[in-house]
Amino acid sequence: MHYFDTVVVGAGLAGATAARVAAEKGKKTLVVEQHRHIAGHCHDAKNEVGITIHTYGPHIFHTNNKEVWNFVRRFSDFNYYQHRVLSYTEGCFIPFPIHTETINELFGIQIAASEVPNFLAEQVRTSSFDTPPKTFRDAIVSQVGEKLYTTFFENYTRKQWGRDPSLLSPEVAARIPVKANRDGRYFSDTYQGIPSQGYTAMVHAMLDHPNISVMLGADWFALKDELEASTTVFTGELDRFFDFKYGKLEYRSLDLVFKTFDKERYQPASVVNYPNDYDWTRITEYKYFLDEKSPSTTVCFEYPKSEGEPFYIVMTKENMERREHYMREVAALEKTGRWLFVGRLAEYKYYNMDQVIAAALHKTGTI
Ligand code: UDP
Repeated sequence: MHYFDTVVVGAGLAGATAARVAAEKGKKTLVVEQHRHIAGHCHDAKNEVGITIHTYGPHIFHTNNKEVWNFVRRFSDFNYYQHRVLSYTEGCFIPFPIHTETINELFGIQIAASEVPNFLAEQVRTSSFDTPPKTFRDAIVSQVGEKLYTTFFENYTRKQWGRDPSLLSPEVAARIPVKANRDGRYFSDTYQGIPSQGYTAMVHAMLDHPNISVMLGADWFALKDELEASTTVFTGELDRFFDFKYGKLEYRSLDLVFKTFDKERYQPASVVNYPNDYDWTRITEYKYFLDEKSPSTTVCFEYPKSEGEPFYIVMTKENMERREHYMREVAALEKTGRWLFVGRLAEYKYYNMDQVIAAALHKTGTI
């Protein structure tokens, strides 16, 4: 039996944050990570042409949480990258999410930002949906009407989630703002950027503490009977922890197909969404994030799938009800003070990176 004050399962953002907080409280901490690398799904690395790619798809840091912003900047500088996305539809690249420019370009009109609320109200008035919105579809249609919904959301959402948008929670729709202004940025948060040396370097710095040791390529489930800890922080899949006793939770995965081209630019923005054409949902051109100069460029096509590495939780009624059963068990375990469950997989929550860190800071602060 090996004793540690804290064992952390997973070396992603949740695990690295929890480990750091524990270590700074003087706790001897072991991080057990099943992959052969740290940083979880925000892992990045320079590829053969010197461009920093995000191994598991694009990650853009954004937060309004000052505590989180101060925390991450202890471990990395951030650049001033502001995320802008284009949606390829009807043969054109249209700025997305919906704001004044989107409407003008799609409808071929020239209205001012002040006219957007009336324009959208008219779109909504001539559309049918249920109020209050109980589904992804109704959440979007009730804000922008059916034309904008079918153009930008309906088919993207079918591709991404492999089901009809009316089966998904309105919370998924809440991730995408509708703006009656000219701010075309994807996020409006006060603090935004990409770690200047990458996410892996940032997480490496978080784990670089004399009280932290890290085991890579190690399955905690196989090791757990040999590990004793005052507190175990679990960041893996919630249903697996409980041996699927209430049934399997669904996750969504992606096939990420990377291609390098012998030209400076591939597309006019870092991310282009493809709601209606092709089988991929979006293409990311990585050099934009850190403004890397190179005669070549690397892009990544995302093809959603149901099997494989769990990237997303799936917010259907069934999954969220099943989650409740598991979370009751989590609450009981957390009450003992010996267990914490943190992160997208362990809490089965569609968290952003900053929310993962906030949860880890908050929960680990109590041990
Ligand atoms: N979405 C869409 N069209 C888009 C972008 C997003 O319909 O062009 C929907 C889709 O259901 C997606 C969700 O909004 O899964 C959340 O989008 P986000 O960009 O936050 O996805 P993530 O970056 O987490 O993959």
